[in-house]
Amino acid sequence: MTMSHSEPRATVSDWLCVLRLEQYSEAFRTAGLATFRQCRNLTPDQLERMGITLPGHRRRILASLTKTNGNGNTESDTYCHSAESERDQRLEETGHDMALQRERPVALYYQRRWVKLDVDYLRYFDNEKEVYSKGIISTAFVTHVTSVGELKFEVVTNNRTFIFRAESEVERNDWVTVLQDCTRGRHHRSTMNPGSPLSPEFQGYLELRGLRSKLYTVVASEKVFLYKNIEDYRLGVGITSIDMNVGNVKDTDRRGFDLTTPYRIFSFIAESEQLREQWVEAMRNAIGEALSNSEVAERIWAEPSNSLCADCEAPQPEWAAINLCVVVCKRCAGEHRGLGPSISKVRSLKMDRKIWTEELIQVFLLLGNERVNSFWAANVPPSEALSPTSCSEERRRFITNKYRQGKYRKYHPLYGNQRELNNALCINVQCSDVLETLSLIFCGADVNCSTDMASWPSVLSLASAHSQPLQAELISHNLNTELPRSEVNEGMAAIHYSTPPCVSHNGFLYKTASMARPITERKSKDEFSRRWCTVNDGTFSYYESDKNSNPNGALKASDIVCLAVDVYDNTFELYSESERLYLFGTDDPDSHKEWVKSIAKTFIPAGVEPLLKLPFDRIGRLKCKDGLNLQTSKVGWFALVGSTLHAYLEDNKGEEIHLRKLNELSIQQDNEVLVLVERGRTLYIEGERKLDFSGWCAAIQAAAGSGGDTLSQQQLTETDIPVIVHSCIGYITQCGLTSEGIYRKSGVNSRVAQLLERFRCDARSVRLREGEHQVDDVSNALKRFFRELGEGLFTSKDASSWLSAAGKIPKTAFVPRSCVTLPCVNKATLQALINHLYCVQRFSELNQMNVHNLAIVFGPTLFQCDGKDFTAGCAIEDLVQHYTFIFEVRLTIPGSMTAAELACEVLDRRKIRVKDKDYWNCWEVSDKEEMERPLHYQERVLPILHSFGTDSHLLIKKHLAMEAMMVKVDPSKHGMMKFREERSILGLGNFHDRYFILNSNSLRMYKEVRVRLTDLLCGRKKIKFSCPITLQYFFVSLRVTVQNVTGK
Ligand SMILES: [Zn+2]
Repeated sequence: MTMSHSEPRATVSDWLCVLRLEQYSEAFRTAGLATFRQCRNLTPDQLERMGITLPGHRRRILASLTKTNGNGNTESDTYCHSAESERDQRLEETGHDMALQRERPVALYYQRRWVKLDVDYLRYFDNEKEVYSKGIISTAFVTHVTSVGELKFEVVTNNRTFIFRAESEVERNDWVTVLQDCTRGRHHRSTMNPGSPLSPEFQGYLELRGLRSKLYTVVASEKVFLYKNIEDYRLGVGITSIDMNVGNVKDTDRRGFDLTTPYRIFSFIAESEQLREQWVEAMRNAIGEALSNSEVAERIWAEPSNSLCADCEAPQPEWAAINLCVVVCKRCAGEHRGLGPSISKVRSLKMDRKIWTEELIQVFLLLGNERVNSFWAANVPPSEALSPTSCSEERRRFITNKYRQGKYRKYHPLYGNQRELNNALCINVQCSDVLETLSLIFCGADVNCSTDMASWPSVLSLASAHSQPLQAELISHNLNTELPRSEVNEGMAAIHYSTPPCVSHNGFLYKTASMARPITERKSKDEFSRRWCTVNDGTFSYYESDKNSNPNGALKASDIVCLAVDVYDNTFELYSESERLYLFGTDDPDSHKEWVKSIAKTFIPAGVEPLLKLPFDRIGRLKCKDGLNLQTSKVGWFALVGSTLHAYLEDNKGEEIHLRKLNELSIQQDNEVLVLVERGRTLYIEGERKLDFSGWCAAIQAAAGSGGDTLSQQQLTETDIPVIVHSCIGYITQCGLTSEGIYRKSGVNSRVAQLLERFRCDARSVRLREGEHQVDDVSNALKRFFRELGEGLFTSKDASSWLSAAGKIPKTAFVPRSCVTLPCVNKATLQALINHLYCVQRFSELNQMNVHNLAIVFGPTLFQCDGKDFTAGCAIEDLVQHYTFIFEVRLTIPGSMTAAELACEVLDRRKIRVKDKDYWNCWEVSDKEEMERPLHYQERVLPILHSFGTDSHLLIKKHLAMEAMMVKVDPSKHGMMKFREERSILGLGNFHDRYFILNSNSLRMYKEVRVRLTDLLCGRKKIKFSCPITLQYFFVSLRVTVQNVTGK
């Protein structure tokens, strides 16, 4: 936004108003800057010192200064006016000299004009009886409206300034307010941007009989606009517009045609006969459009974001995809139609009157393009975004990506988990969050799923029964919708039906008779016979000898479904489509390798070739399902390498599944489906053929289990920590932090051994439960795990250098470097454990385990030594004490972490002491949007982080406005109250008894009082800390409900 040439007189507060940064007026005043001119040489640093901390705001201010500084003199049209917006009124006309153009004083005079304003245009007329204006200014181009001098005001567009004078001060102020209202908050057009806010159907020069020069004429929606020339059109300053609802178009001669209205006949002459035809057609279309019903459109556009196309931002979009809940322009609607009604149901806002029920209109008003795009267009790369001028090809690509493939959508946290999605849908349709329903549906929830409720078996009936007509409306338009998915079919075709590369190999192999059962025992040597084998033309053949020309048997590449490798015996197994298993052996490892490679090459399709480069134990194809498409299974290609399953599913992109990191691995449905649950997705591998499937199951299960006694061979969490360590630490944190002598006391030996054995067997399946497991048993299982760990936590290679650094941290930079050399699993585990010990010692008042005591226990355990001297202990003591330094701690944020916890954690890490009257808060800051928002203290941080683009970050800072918001309260209030918190929409929790203490700056809530109340009142605070709610949260949150039951 620029100030234009009126700037020298402008006050700073007016100017800031125009920039919509009026909140800084005070800062400017404090800095002694009263007029705009005084601000001209401001620097970014100065602005920052003035308290303008948001970079976007500084940029906006500086941009405005630069623009204005560069401005010279500007053309100025001057009109005197008579004005009215709602009431009609007349003002006086005067000749006058303007103070405006100081550099170029010109005698200007005013003419008496009738002026009208609607939302889009300011028009002025010879008199109030005229239908067609003398001039029309598109408000979208108005950058600035200000009062100037006596009774006057300026309307500034990018290169013109119109000055009006009213008859009274009151009227002048009315005009300024009304004009500012209608220009504020709009996207301004500038001269840089060719085109007008219209979406023209047809445009060009036309001769108007009786005028010497041609007029630039634009047919747009239901109006025809006349401009002096194309430049004026681009600047949004025209002569008049003709409403086509009263128009009629008729050919008159070869190039001429009349546009007849009840008020005037416009006789046009086109440049050619052909052009005349096009003009006539365009104008007749405009008449048709004008006569169509615009009531629905007007209502839909009442939601501001609906007045721009959801796909390309063209203004006044008149179409909608009623199932996708987006309002789109005519050109985008054409591309939507191309997707077919199973993906986008396109309807006109103006012509399809019947479809627009009250509920559907309400859905569109409730959602609106902006909110809906927060789902559909959450991740649009700027390079792919559309603009109103994008060509059809770009539109088609974008709209296909957006809705058919769902490429830009914001993935629902439950994405890929069909059952949970369906469940969430059933719950959500009972409340009013329609956007969530949209998100669920288009992330895979099945609108036709069963609710498992006899009275409301369908989601639709469930929504209706819970009086959610808008939810029901949305669902009803999506009962047959095809869900977004990436291109499956073409991709698959490429993988499976391409010709395999030509491979040829031959030599002798030892072969057994083919089998119909898995091999359970080792085959003895005499079961093998020596055969001449060849791989050629996509067929594997075996012959009696190399002299024979007729093979004993052959396997076509397309029949081979799996190849399993056993390197120890130099054997490999081939599984066929017809459920036969062939076992081959070779004499030496080299030829074994060569054969495996050659055979794999024959049956692995070209698209998944990278699998061949892997040192696989097993490779082949399997039927599977995942993600959204659980109805149809697809063929995937898999290679098992150690504990990693490499897979190529549908899009020719390889992925890795770390089997030791799976959340769950099970065989279901009568041994027919192998279920692999990872975070965010579940893969179902189907037993299409029993024989190779059982081989895969056994191999995958073995690979997913603990592979040995070193750290990295354990089943791991996603953060590379052994599941056993993770479970034990989690359990102790939950149940044992306050247990006296934790980690020092020993558990019951037999129980410890049993627990450890269960962990070794399958750590994932062990669930530690309070009551069922004793904290000391668990703590000792963890210690024993580390003590018996192969290589040790510090690895036998590095342990000595760790010990030699003991007592010197952080005086040397040694430890962090050693840390880097540790294998990543060891490092992650060390960090998790030390973090845990760091927490344990924080409770040393209760558990008696301070850093030193913990170090005595853990030194010898982790270094696997006898602990005769304290060197090992000393090393551990260092680690715990300098935990944040050594691990260069950046926060790992668990899914459950709330904004308040994050703030506390950060302050604690930074050793910032929170003073009285400091209100620290976690803020979401978006640079681009120039926005910052304090998080509610219970808001989960992780989902917010996930939703961030690159322009956003979290910030812990003081909430400066808090003090002002504080109320003075009697500091002596305390007592039991019933407390309930509404955490979710899913229902209300119960009230619980909590002890509250209110002082002047916080309301503290305690879960339980561990000492007698008298102790408490004497100030001996031995209350179990639960959750301090500083009062700010009360202002931020409207959801905390406190019911005073017994408080005084
Ligand atoms: Zn569009």
